[in-house]
This record gives sequence, structure tokens and C-alpha cells, in this order.
Amino acid sequence: MKIICVGLNYKLHNKEMNSSLYEEDNDPILFMKPESALLKEGNPFFIPDFSSEIHYEVELVVKLSRVGKNIAERFAHRYYDEITVGIDFTARDLQRKQKERGFPWEISKAFDNSAVVGDFVSKDKYLKPLNDLSFSLLKNEEIVQQGEVSDMIHPIDKIIAYASRFYTLKVGDLIYTGTPAGVGRVDINDHLIGFIENEKLLDFYIK
Ligand code: MG
Repeated sequence: MKIICVGLNYKLHNKEMNSSLYEEDNDPILFMKPESALLKEGNPFFIPDFSSEIHYEVELVVKLSRVGKNIAERFAHRYYDEITVGIDFTARDLQRKQKERGFPWEISKAFDNSAVVGDFVSKDKYLKPLNDLSFSLLKNEEIVQQGEVSDMIHPIDKIIAYASRFYTLKVGDLIYTGTPAGVGRVDINDHLIGFIENEKLLDFYIK
């Protein structure tokens, strides 16, 4: 399986990243993480020795349920049944350095355990349209990020259509749909809890 991520998909987050170069009529920004980046079942995240600035980014995560290539946006909703919240951990110091040099920032995003996933639930579970759902992240019992699916610059179905032009999407592939504003660093012993609506789907510690 593969993990496809979208960068800069929420206006307020783009502002906090000073990404003024990105315009909303651009195509989605995609990058990938390998399967070895997955961290699940509430296992702890160990801060790696190559970074002193690991940031959380809470995101809505979509799991592909069908194989597809060149999927039309209007049919994209047929290609996924389950969602959850996850963390796109980012070594912000490494990312900044790579960006300054104009090099790919893969190492700051695709390292081991950088893709945390919560428990998957049916996308129909909350009895309202997916676009009306909200999700959030608590760090040490304080809300640090809150997102509305409807605030995405590029909606889920568009992301799937776009990604499938380049990559054959397979059953079990994950899509991290971008983070809302409020990203920040994690430190040892931090406790992260992620929600869709009021349901806790993610709960783990930083070690
Ligand atoms: Mg992200």
C-alpha cells in the first residue's frame, strides 16, 4: 500500500506556513509516504534523533476500497468507504532546510512512524454528509487543531481524481487530506487524542 498526502489544503494553515506562493486555482500538492511510515493501534511515537522540531498535523484520512486509475471526480466517492483521523508528522527543521535549498523535502515527511492513523469508521457513520464533518486534535487535554472538511481547498473527490491521473490507486491506500491551522511541536510525554465529530478515534503518547 501507499500513503498519498496533500499539502497546503487549508487557507489558514497556508497563512501560518507563509506559503503565499500557493494559489487556490493551482492543482493539489501531492507527496507520498511509504508503508514503513505507518503507526497504528495507539502505539507511542518516539521522537527521532535527526530532528529537534517534530510537528503534529492532524488530518482527515481516507482509505481506498477499490482499484482505480484516471477516476472521474464525480465517481470518486465510490472508491472509498472508510475514514479516520491521523497525524502527518513533519520534521519542520529538516523541511525548512530542504525548502531553502530547493530540494525535495521527502526526508522530513516520509520517515518511519510519521503517518499515524486512528481507528477507521464508515464514512456514513455520522449520519451527515462527509463535507459537513469536523475533526480535531487535543494535546495534553487542550484543543490545538480543529478542522472542517468543508474548508478544504481541494475536496476529497478532487484529490482522488487528480492523484489517480498519476498513480494507480489500490485497495488499502491511504490519503491524508491536509491539515488545518494550529500545527505545532511535540515533546516527550505529550498525549495526543484525535476526534471526528465527538468520537475519539486516535489516542497515543509521544516518547
Ligand atoms: Mg500535512
